[in-house]
Order: sequence, then C-alpha cells, then structure tokens
Amino acid sequence: MAKILVFTELHGTHVKGVTLEILGKLSGHTVEIATIGKFPTEAATELAKFGAAKIHSLAGANLDKYSPEGYSNALHGFISKGAYDYVFAGATSLGKDLLPRLATKFDAGMASEVTNFTMEGDKFFGTRPLFAGKCFAKVELSGPKPHFVTVRPNALGLNPNPTSGAAAASDSTVDAGAMKAIIQEILKGASEKLDLTEANIIVSGGRAMKEAANFKILDELANVIGATVGASRAAVDSGFAPHAMQVGQTGKTVAPTLYIACGISGAIQHLAGMRTSKVIVAINTDPDAPIFTKADYGIVGDLFQIVPLLTQEFKNLLGK
Ligand SMILES: Cc1cc2nc3c(=O)[nH]c(=O)nc-3n(C[C@H](O)[C@H](O)[C@H](O)COP(=O)(O)OP(=O)(O)OC[C@H]3O[C@@H](n4cnc5c(N)ncnc54)[C@H](O)[C@@H]3O)c2cc1C
Repeated sequence: MAKILVFTELHGTHVKGVTLEILGKLSGHTVEIATIGKFPTEAATELAKFGAAKIHSLAGANLDKYSPEGYSNALHGFISKGAYDYVFAGATSLGKDLLPRLATKFDAGMASEVTNFTMEGDKFFGTRPLFAGKCFAKVELSGPKPHFVTVRPNALGLNPNPTSGAAAASDSTVDAGAMKAIIQEILKGASEKLDLTEANIIVSGGRAMKEAANFKILDELANVIGATVGASRAAVDSGFAPHAMQVGQTGKTVAPTLYIACGISGAIQHLAGMRTSKVIVAINTDPDAPIFTKADYGIVGDLFQIVPLLTQEFKNLLGK
C-alpha cells in the first residue's frame, strides 16, 4: 500500500472540490492531506468524510500568499520528512505551477493533468489527454519516489461512497527558505466566481456576442444555474472578455459537467479546451457550425433570443 499526500488549496472555508475527487478515488489507501494555512472546521470535516487519515496545517514566515519559490521550498522540506510514495494535487493554476517545481527538486517523475488513474498496490497508472484531447496516453511512473501527480478538476467526479475516517490533525512549521522575491499583495480580478478550470457548469460566449456589454445576458443565465462564464478566443481578442475567461488551446482547459457554447463556431482550438465536458449544449444560428458535431444538444437560433428564454425557464424550474 502506498503512502500518499494530497496537497490541497482552500476555497473559503471549504477545500477545493478536486481534492475530494482525488480522495474518493484513493478510497482504501492511507492518505494524508496538507495545506499551507489553517484548515477551517468545515474543511477538516469534509476531508475526514472523504477518508483523510491525517490533516497537516503548515505555517511559516512569508507563506501567507502563494509564492512559487516559498511554497516549493517549504513543501520540499515537509515532504522529505514524510517518506511519501506519491504527492497528488489538483491541476489548478496553483497545482500546475507548484507540483512540477517539486518534482524537479526531488528529481522525480510526474504525471500532469491526469483525467483518471488507478492504484494497483503501490503502483500508479494514469490516463492523460494528449494533442488537445485527440488521444489519451497511459502513464506509469518509475524511478525515485515520491512521484507527483496533478488531476484535472471535475474529471474523476465525487465518489458517492467514500471511506470515511477520523482524521488526526497536525500543525507543522515549514521553512520557505531564502526567497529572492516576496509577494506583498495579490490583486484579485473583479470576479469572485469559481475559476473556469474548477467550474461544474460553464456558459461561454463567442464572437457573436458582438460587444462586452452583451455578456450580461450570459452572466444572468450563469447566476441562475450557478455557472461560470467563459469565452472563445475571438471574443477575447475582440475585447469582449479578459484572457482569464478564454477556453481553448491557448486559454484554459475545462471539464465541466455542462458546457453551454453561445455563438461559438467550434474551431478545433476551442474544442481542445472543452471537448472533455460531460454534456455540451450549443446555440448557433448556423446549422452547419462545427460545434454541433460535438454537441449533445444543439439549438439552432439567435443566442440573443434563446439565452434570455433559457434564463427565464431555469428561473421557473428552480423557483428563483
Ligand atoms: C494557434 C491558435 C490558438 C488558438 N487558441 C484558441 C483558444 O484557446 N480558444 C479559442 O476559442 N480559439 C482559439 N483559436 C481561434 C480559433 O481558431 C477560432 O478562430 C475561434 O475559436 C473562433 O471563435 P468564435 O467561435 O467565437 O468565432 P467564430 O468562428 O467567428 O464563430 C462565431 C459563431 O457564432 C455564430 N453566430 C453568429 N451570430 C449568432 C447569433 N446571434 N446567435 C448564435 N450564433 C451566432 C456563427 O454562426 C458562428 O458559428 C486559436 C487559433 C490559433 C491559430
């Protein structure tokens, strides 16, 4: 049986959903959790429910804000003492930045952005999309341990029957080392919405939105169904939306349960970022738009009529 550490980030008083997905998949193994900062009670309870054996809260000077250098130094020291076989994290913006740095420090193997995996004894077998999701590679890790794995959010889903455990809590001091740059302040974007890569529902707009102000109708739909709003590159390049909202090859890769594409043609570079969505709905005036070949449900029509109708229908349905 492998000794596994899952590094997690907090989202308010909760852990990010991908941590629970990973824990659910590791059901039956001894899994410890670590974060930099203190776990709120809600987060600790969630983790215990999903089978965490031990929860480490790590603290140290200059670690109150994410720093690639400080976090990787601090975790390198902590992980070295724990004799872990595997260190997992979500393939979030932070996880994708941090884990490769750690793998390099340990001169160890890493599987990035796996969408599924199995553990056979202490051996890891992962699946990761290649060439913008056109094919899948099976990944095994060899060489010195610990090995590092990032898991794409929303890819595994939550285990409905996780092994629940009584998680022991542990506070440790870690050392960020001699940092060349200390982050003083992080200015957040205007949106407090969930990052696209972690969103369970996404409503995206394309060039057909015509102007930035028209994204309001997507925001209204998103508010009713609890979605995050994305955009195609054409919409971003036209100045309708910031780059942080771009889905696709040169934007974010997303895997929500539901992806609603509004006025997006379905170019290969856009599909590269959202083709692993579980259900795709496309709204487009052109019945021959390529997006319809990938959509589970297609609506041929004008998004400026259809999106408000959908918003109203969802309001009625959900009693909002
Ligand atoms: C190297 C490279 C990287 C790229 N990376 C990305 C990327 O990361 N993400 C990305 O999205 N693209 C990317 N692109 C660009 C990509 O090739 C497409 O140009 C882009 O996705 C098109 O965006 P769009 O679908 O919004 O616009 P269009 O292709 O112009 O499509 C607009 C669609 O809206 C429909 N429409 C028009 N009016 C309405 C209406 N009123 N109601 C409903 N439908 C309507 C039209 O029928 C059409 O299908 C990349 C390109 C390159 C070369």
